Amino acid sequence: MSDRYGDFVQSSLGKKVAKNLGLPLPVTLDRFESGENLVRGSVLVGRAKGEDKSVSASISRILSDVHADVYVNSSDDIKDELADASIEAKANTGGDDKFKVLLFDASNIVNAEQLKEVYEFFHAVARRVDKSGRVIIVGRTPENITDIEAAMAQRSLEGFVKSVGKEFKRGVTAQLIYVEEGAEQNLDSTLRFFTSARSAYVSGQVVRVSKGESVEVDWTQPLGGKTMLVTGASRGIGEAIARVLAREGAHIICLDVPQQQADLQKVASEISGSVVTVDITSDDAGKEIAEAAQKRGGLDSIIHNAGVTRDKTLANMDEKKWDMVIDINLGSIARLNCYLLDNDVLKENARIVCVSSISGIAGNMGQTNYATSKAGVIGLVDATAKQLEDNAKGMTINAVAPGFIETQMTEAIPFAIREAGRRMNSMSQGGLPVDVAETIAWFASPASGGLNGNVVRVCGQSLLGA
Ligand code: NAD
Repeated sequence: MSDRYGDFVQSSLGKKVAKNLGLPLPVTLDRFESGENLVRGSVLVGRAKGEDKSVSASISRILSDVHADVYVNSSDDIKDELADASIEAKANTGGDDKFKVLLFDASNIVNAEQLKEVYEFFHAVARRVDKSGRVIIVGRTPENITDIEAAMAQRSLEGFVKSVGKEFKRGVTAQLIYVEEGAEQNLDSTLRFFTSARSAYVSGQVVRVSKGESVEVDWTQPLGGKTMLVTGASRGIGEAIARVLAREGAHIICLDVPQQQADLQKVASEISGSVVTVDITSDDAGKEIAEAAQKRGGLDSIIHNAGVTRDKTLANMDEKKWDMVIDINLGSIARLNCYLLDNDVLKENARIVCVSSISGIAGNMGQTNYATSKAGVIGLVDATAKQLEDNAKGMTINAVAPGFIETQMTEAIPFAIREAGRRMNSMSQGGLPVDVAETIAWFASPASGGLNGNVVRVCGQSLLGA
């Protein structure tokens, strides 16, 4: 779908007009391209003073693995951990050179005064972040901290990160990763995702990394040998998910309703996947999925993407519109998960990923049915995550909540509302289906065993429900 205003402001005339009128100035976001370095520029890394070096050690190891070009502030004591990871860090001597990533280990911050270290690190380089740059803070999960001042200080980081996301513009994203003590080795998949162009349209998010079991992967094909099923794969976001997961090495079982058979078949054959045509609300949906999965020895992941809207204000909404949306977007996911778990269709370390929506977080005019279903998806993820923690099979469940994504679904929105949805976020533009797909690939990775019960918005830090 075309974004004419977005295209216009890329020209020098467009830029001038937009600047003079104070209009939004969306930039072309960096997106993943095969063969490119994970981090497309230099990384400034720092840490708050304190005894615990475990987070910094993990960060250093990961930066070494991705061959990052690393800088430190001269007074910074993360230099020891970097040296242990065989990184020869350069000194940040000031000047105008830009950084692609600013990465700060805040895990040692235990009181309000110490938050000053966050200010000092980022203030000094706030004008030196490259276009599509990344601001990342790693802290400790506040809910696990008993000391009130320390829990408070860690929770404070959320306000800082979300504000930076709104201030920096030019496609710069800002994220907060809370890592549980003892789960530092699980940071890999999350740090790789957030430092790279794969997280182009994800900003202002808080992710919790816990101790779950992560499986080692070949980072060039992290989903190699896996079988994953994507519902609603014939078009839009589902098609993009199928293509990205296949690009990362997985065999994809593409599912959609029988009416979409031709489009579905086309997608599947282009990615050497297979096909299941079934309505997910039908009684035999679970059985049909199980049969297709068993041919390949079971499922490593299911992506619950299929969904519909039937918008009407509550007063004008007939029962059929309510029932249909709730059943497709919510009821069927709950039933399918039960069936797949009860019948051992999901393998050890399986990844369940659901597609919610920011409508489910913020609510939306004319979408009582849709927002109810999508809030329910978050409830389902919360409750299932707790259950999976206890089942010892290493499975996880997480959700993405897309904001305004350029698809047939959003093309149907009236122009004025569509334009507002597109611009009311820190990126001043709509996201692309591939942005949702990359986020799902991160959750679906065997290396993401430390992610369970997270809901990450893919919304360019939309103002809605923020
Ligand atoms: P889309 O309408 O382009 O695609 C949805 C797909 O789901 C279609 O292929 C459709 O045939 C399939 N589907 C619908 N009902 C089904 C059923 N009963 N059984 C099997 N398949 C069925 O929509 P999209 O924009 O690609 O959205 C994909 C998901 O993302 C949905 O869950 C949607 O709610 C969510 N989402 C989209 C946006 C956005 O901006 N486009 C924003 C937030 C959330």
